[in-house]
Amino acid sequence: CGIVGYVGSQSALEVVLAGLRRLEYRGYDSAGVAVLADGQIASARKSGKLVNLEKALVDGPLPAGATGIGHTRWATHGGPTDANAHPHLDNAGRVAVVHNGIIENFAELRAELAGRGHVLTSETDTETVAHLLAEEFSGCADLAEAMRLVCRRLQGAFTLVAVHADAPDVVVGARRNSPLVVGVGEGEAFLASDVAAFIAHTRSAIELGQDQVVEVRRDEVVVTGFDGRPAEVRHFRVDWDAAA
Ligand code: GLU
Repeated sequence: CGIVGYVGSQSALEVVLAGLRRLEYRGYDSAGVAVLADGQIASARKSGKLVNLEKALVDGPLPAGATGIGHTRWATHGGPTDANAHPHLDNAGRVAVVHNGIIENFAELRAELAGRGHVLTSETDTETVAHLLAEEFSGCADLAEAMRLVCRRLQGAFTLVAVHADAPDVVVGARRNSPLVVGVGEGEAFLASDVAAFIAHTRSAIELGQDQVVEVRRDEVVVTGFDGRPAEVRHFRVDWDAAA
């Protein structure tokens, strides 16, 4: 229901949790985060309010990292359990993905993945994307390209944001029939389902168009269509009151 991604030099965990708090008004039933640290993905997820996740992070702290993603979930496929909360990882734990929306063809994708030996551990439509991304990344070693290849196979409405342990300092996002905005800071960048998540950090933003993929680094934002063609980037300034 709410999505935040960050790459920069601050603590990704702190930035992402603060962003998720700003999206709380949307309502949600679970929350989770993933951080890239020392070539690994560390993640935590909990059903219930953000405070449950924050308690879990006190009991089991994540290593510090400057690249991360977070999610507040409004369950559509699978009940509001810890196992169904996002982020979802592939079996090797190398890719983490968060998702707003519905992947309509998830049943076919699950069957296909199971046939290739993947073990799905949640009831969500989302988890299929983590496994597909891992497969595509192992073929091309380019997370944005892997995301484009996966998105071309998805039906439905989705905002997706992902990180890969072998793609340090990169966050990738994609959208179809569901919003995604990029916040462009100085030496840092944000991805979010709503500008409210990053307005405390930057007012410079880019709105992603329909069927586009964005690859975000500290000081670079690259937008393409699902077909890989460079897309025109639509910059805007967020001028409403941050306190609103
Ligand atoms: N369909 C996904 C799920 O049920 C995402 C729901 C959402 O938008 O939060 O996990």
